[in-house]
Amino acid sequence: MKDKSRSINPLRAAVVGGGIGGLSAACSLSRRGIGVTVFEQAETLGEIGAGLTIFPNALRQLERMGLGEALAAVGAKIGDGSEYYRADGTVVGPMTMSDSSGWNGIYGMHRADLLNALAASLPSSTIRTGHRCIGFEQNALIARLKFANGETAEADIVIAADGINSVMQKYVVEPKPPEYSGVRAYRGLIPREKLPGWPEEAQQVWIGDGKHFMVYPVRSGRLLNYVGFVPSKNAMTESWSAVGDRQELASSFAGWDPRVVRLLESVETCFWWGLFDRLPLQSWTRGRLVLLGDAAHAMLPHLGQGANQAIEDGVALSVLLEGRDPAEVPDIVQQYEKLRRVRTDIIQAEARKNGLRYDSKYANLAQRDREIANSGAFRKSLFDYDVEKVAIAHLEQSQRSLD
Ligand SMILES: Cc1cc2nc3c(=O)[nH]c(=O)nc-3n(C[C@H](O)[C@H](O)[C@H](O)COP(=O)(O)OP(=O)(O)OC[C@H]3O[C@@H](n4cnc5c(N)ncnc54)[C@H](O)[C@@H]3O)c2cc1C
Repeated sequence: MKDKSRSINPLRAAVVGGGIGGLSAACSLSRRGIGVTVFEQAETLGEIGAGLTIFPNALRQLERMGLGEALAAVGAKIGDGSEYYRADGTVVGPMTMSDSSGWNGIYGMHRADLLNALAASLPSSTIRTGHRCIGFEQNALIARLKFANGETAEADIVIAADGINSVMQKYVVEPKPPEYSGVRAYRGLIPREKLPGWPEEAQQVWIGDGKHFMVYPVRSGRLLNYVGFVPSKNAMTESWSAVGDRQELASSFAGWDPRVVRLLESVETCFWWGLFDRLPLQSWTRGRLVLLGDAAHAMLPHLGQGANQAIEDGVALSVLLEGRDPAEVPDIVQQYEKLRRVRTDIIQAEARKNGLRYDSKYANLAQRDREIANSGAFRKSLFDYDVEKVAIAHLEQSQRSLD
């Protein structure tokens, strides 16, 4: 526990991976006075990707980091008119789009817009692109990283935010490939003006036999992000840039609600990726190395929480690290894992279950509809969670137990 009377050495953190988890962790760490450098393999940040949703549980953290205005400028408000439909367009029920206080802090965001907003809030010297990490070692005092470009770096803590196919994971647990869900996702963006009359602020999900289709706005509402989830036996490596066949996509949803068919007629280019996740890992930490985001708890996208949970991770870790001595890192990262797993283990499992609902893998569809219509309480519990408060309460509890 932090003892303010004693002098401490300032912590130096190295983050491997400049995705949403890595950059938001860097923002959170710098806000708490921890020196941080992010090493990203790509030459440019965030050139790939489409839409993702930022929900109240992550937005309240990003706003505290001072990103409120930047996100309001590029996000698309989502709330009114959000609904679940059956494949024929009949309504299953409304989608819960606010926390228990009634706050509708939800944006549809282009991944690149979110990454740019995070990067712009950090000093440019914090982010080192063109740094693919290829090696890691540590001793009791320090951790060292090796990069493909021949450079090396040292830090008191290494935060591995290098995604679902993490190269750093093998320094923590026995390596295993991610698990293929049997589903391929086609996704893309359509200028809103191509679909006059499309609802302004709605997230819409159509659920059908083995498939589902989702639409929501991004980039200040100027673009509509769509994703069509269809079964596919071919387990392909996860990729965000493989070009999909738009005819194949359209024929997968032929005969569905005319709104879906109309939208798919406007598609010019689409991309696809295979959906993978992992079962909870045995451990997230070893000594001075800690996993964060998809590297720690890759999950299916059916609750839209992948990016949101990565953001929560960074906040929890930075609260626990603030004002602490480098010698304490191995103990702190274990506390971080304990604190976070209580939440992410459940969300990983619930994302899988929600996928079964959305793909109608139910003998009794009335039961599916009831579960979806009653999902509001669970969604509110996701949105209400305030990870900063939870981490601070954990510190206070640890302090009390030492007093
Ligand atoms: C290119 C890309 C596009 C995506 N697009 C979408 C999308 O459209 N919709 C959606 O919902 N989710 C998308 N995701 C996933 C979503 O961003 C993540 O689930 C979530 O944000 C968790 O973030 P993360 O930071 O843990 O992982 P990621 O966002 O996957 O970021 C990991 C980062 O680590 C970097 N990296 C990997 N290996 C190394 C290495 N050895 N050395 C240095 N850097 C390394 C990667 O280049 C990447 O920038 C995308 C992910 C990626 C990588």
